[in-house]
Amino acid sequence: MADNYLVEPDVGFIKEVSALGGQDVKKCFQCATCSVVCPISPDTQPFPRKEMIAAGWGLKDRVLNSADIWLCHNCGDCSTKCPRGAQPGDVLAALRTYAVSEYVSEVKPFQKLAKMVNDPKALPVLLAIPAVIFIVLGLITGLLDFTPEGEEIVHAHFFSTWLVDMIMIPASIFAAAAFALGLKNFVTRMHENALRDGKTDKKDLDPVGIVRGIITSVPAIIRHDKFNECTENRERSTAHMMVLFGFIGLAIVTGIFFVVLYGFQIHGPYSQLNPVKWLANVSGVALVIGSILMLKQRLAKSDQISTYKDWYHIGLALALGLSGMLTEMTRLAGMGGLSYFIYFLHLMFVFSLFVYTPFSKLAHLVYRTVAIGYNEWSGRK
Ligand code: SF4
Ligand code: SF4
Repeated sequence: MADNYLVEPDVGFIKEVSALGGQDVKKCFQCATCSVVCPISPDTQPFPRKEMIAAGWGLKDRVLNSADIWLCHNCGDCSTKCPRGAQPGDVLAALRTYAVSEYVSEVKPFQKLAKMVNDPKALPVLLAIPAVIFIVLGLITGLLDFTPEGEEIVHAHFFSTWLVDMIMIPASIFAAAAFALGLKNFVTRMHENALRDGKTDKKDLDPVGIVRGIITSVPAIIRHDKFNECTENRERSTAHMMVLFGFIGLAIVTGIFFVVLYGFQIHGPYSQLNPVKWLANVSGVALVIGSILMLKQRLAKSDQISTYKDWYHIGLALALGLSGMLTEMTRLAGMGGLSYFIYFLHLMFVFSLFVYTPFSKLAHLVYRTVAIGYNEWSGRK
């Protein structure tokens, strides 16, 4: 006999999902075409039809606590084939954005920041926060010098490396705390959901098993195996891969230079012949080209819903890549004032990447990876 389920619709939730790009959710007439055409949906309890029903009925907890909204790679194949134009791919993207703020909602400052990150009117404030922190802290500590001496352009003479790390290290700890809280809630609720729906036989959560599942899945994630199963929008895979590799490369470079600076006391600027510099330059170029391609593809796709969260996500990746490359190029061209100014902008974007990422669309890098690892461990039926 089928289970009874008491429907308690959350109307506010439907409105918020609509505002985040899921405005066509109510057009769904449950034909299931989307679940059939989705190249990566499993045979048992496939998505995204069941998520469309749950979202349309306002069953917030049921849909947000499902791993399946994160397994979707937003390829858009289902939206292209949907006979009602209900845009299931975009509805799932809106659900993910909503979910990210929901997972951290018990900490009010996190919840407030999550709302701001997805509100275009809050962008000037979000950009002003790092600018004010850098200038005020720099002036108080004397580690910011608006008129650095000497012919050679050295960015650390303008913003001391100490000042940068004094801000970036707490910023990264803040991001780690937000992700830790979000992931704890996400994994707990996802498991309760999976047990209730009979998607797993494993009663107790096993963090080590989930980590093993993540490690097993990493090669397929890096190769974009799932993304490459898309048909209509496969070209998006290349741009996505370039941006991902750009971020990974730059994270490696930052880690190496951190160790070189504090472990071996070797200060920049580093030679262009240094292999780590090559990696930095190649990663920067990949980030810029990948984000431009993403921008171009989104602008060309008139049948895809693009909201502020999508432009913010692409805009930040492009701003980071461009400001990093231009800082370097203007330094090599001997344009001191301009190079220091662009470096300042670059630091603002890096701060935004650390502090705002746990609440933005970019958080999918973490949540999707964990959902895939959880599925691997739980033996999703
Ligand atoms: S979203 Fe579209 S394709 Fe999917 S069930 Fe609804 S109407 Fe059918
Ligand atoms: S957007 Fe792509 S991956 Fe996501 S549900 Fe639709 S077809 Fe599947």
